[in-house]
Amino acid sequence: MIPNPVRVRFAPSPTGPLHIGGVRTALYNFLFARKHGGTLILRIEDTDQNRFVPGAEQYIIESLAWCGLKFDESPERGGPHAPYRQSERSEIYKEYIQRLIVNGHAYYAFDTEAELEVMRASFKADGNKVFQYDQKTRKSLRNSLTVSDSEVNAMLKAGTPYVIRIKIPENQLVVVHDLIRGDVTVNTANLDDKVLFKSDGLPTYHLANVVDDYLMKITHVIRGEEWLPSAPLHVLLYRFFGWEDIMPQFAHLPLILKPDGNGKLSKRDGDRLGFPVFPTEWKDPTTGELYSGYRESGYLSNAVVNILVHLGWNPGTEQELFSMEELIQQFSLERVGKHGSKFDPEKAKWFNHQYLQRKSDEELYQMLKPFLEHSGVAPPGEYVEKVIRLVKDRVFLVPDLWNAAWFFFIRPRDYDAQVYQKIWQPVTTELIQGFAKETAQLVDFNKETLHELVLHFIANSGVKMGQLMNPLRLLMVGSNQGPGMMDLAEVIGKKEFLERIRIGVEKLTK
Ligand code: GLU
Repeated sequence: MIPNPVRVRFAPSPTGPLHIGGVRTALYNFLFARKHGGTLILRIEDTDQNRFVPGAEQYIIESLAWCGLKFDESPERGGPHAPYRQSERSEIYKEYIQRLIVNGHAYYAFDTEAELEVMRASFKADGNKVFQYDQKTRKSLRNSLTVSDSEVNAMLKAGTPYVIRIKIPENQLVVVHDLIRGDVTVNTANLDDKVLFKSDGLPTYHLANVVDDYLMKITHVIRGEEWLPSAPLHVLLYRFFGWEDIMPQFAHLPLILKPDGNGKLSKRDGDRLGFPVFPTEWKDPTTGELYSGYRESGYLSNAVVNILVHLGWNPGTEQELFSMEELIQQFSLERVGKHGSKFDPEKAKWFNHQYLQRKSDEELYQMLKPFLEHSGVAPPGEYVEKVIRLVKDRVFLVPDLWNAAWFFFIRPRDYDAQVYQKIWQPVTTELIQGFAKETAQLVDFNKETLHELVLHFIANSGVKMGQLMNPLRLLMVGSNQGPGMMDLAEVIGKKEFLERIRIGVEKLTK
């Protein structure tokens, strides 16, 4: 049963740019909210001041807006539960952490980093065990469960640094009902006493997240699988606050895996494997390093939405290309799988190709325009559209429009030396010049007449097709790439065709 009204949130921490996994989480929340006529909230979880990165919040908002994802309540737009930035809500959390202390569900811990280090080392020495602050170890540590009340008060008064930890109950079963994974049951013996609050006056993620989901009346928590291990702790917090019967429903989304399926797709994978992992470009404010984005690499935002929606959700039909409206209608959490989805960079390009093919010639012209301007050419619109029609089906990313078409607009500046070595034979210069002479006689210059001339010419001179066509291509485009030679020749016209032969032969045979 879907409770009404649906209220979901996307709750990123502004610790850097948003990875596409985060965009997918935001997208699923958006689709779910829109489908059910609900409300989508953006909450900035910035209580970890050490990890705060300037510009990250703006980046998150702008890159999601580029994908078509807008929020109903957010730090920018405000809303009935403002503020939506956790660092501005610190007074609220103080009240709730006090409640947990008074009810005996949380306690002060005064252990210094050095003391904890000693514990870690002794655990390690004892058969390589890993130290946890938990129901077994807390009894021998310095906290308000082991130290007298007066001593605790004295330490608090003296400003001794502390943290406040949850007191995990002994030997209870905690069940997380997950809409995607079903029931996940954990014994509290396996949970540690996580820090809920720090002496800098700010809560940790766990406390702030639960308190805010409650106060903001969140009905569904849709987030990445990496948060599943924290969910039992969150369920316990709802229980301790007495909110268990109005607890949101959980849906933990499957991981997005590296292309080879070996582990989670990480922020570092993108530039390492040659595809972007961020929606838009990001410049690291401290190192100045630039990370590529889908937008700048020439992806259309609706292609990115389609790439992401399929990484976890499956429509149950053969349909692969969806408009946002169709996604809103068809999306459901029931069709989100449990298993990680491999990110396939080739498939991503294929999606973009499909969306580019659906653009009108005029729209593609607009995309090509900046490249034309950059090269200082301004051909007539009709000419450009003719070229676009010729190259369109080879365009996967927006810059391909230029890469597949530049030779229709400008002459090659240089000629691939390797290709030259390979194809330019002693007879070539004379052959090409002879061919140019005959071409100059053509009254009607188009791809058919040129084709005929070529056939005629090779028959007469007794050379193979390649001996003429390979050098011609080199002269026209500077390499062995490019579209059909006859198409190119017809579009650039006789004068330009002959000019490229003349200039090229001159440069190459100097
Ligand atoms: N602040 C967490 C994050 O950065 C939010 C997790 C959640 O949605 O509960 O992903």
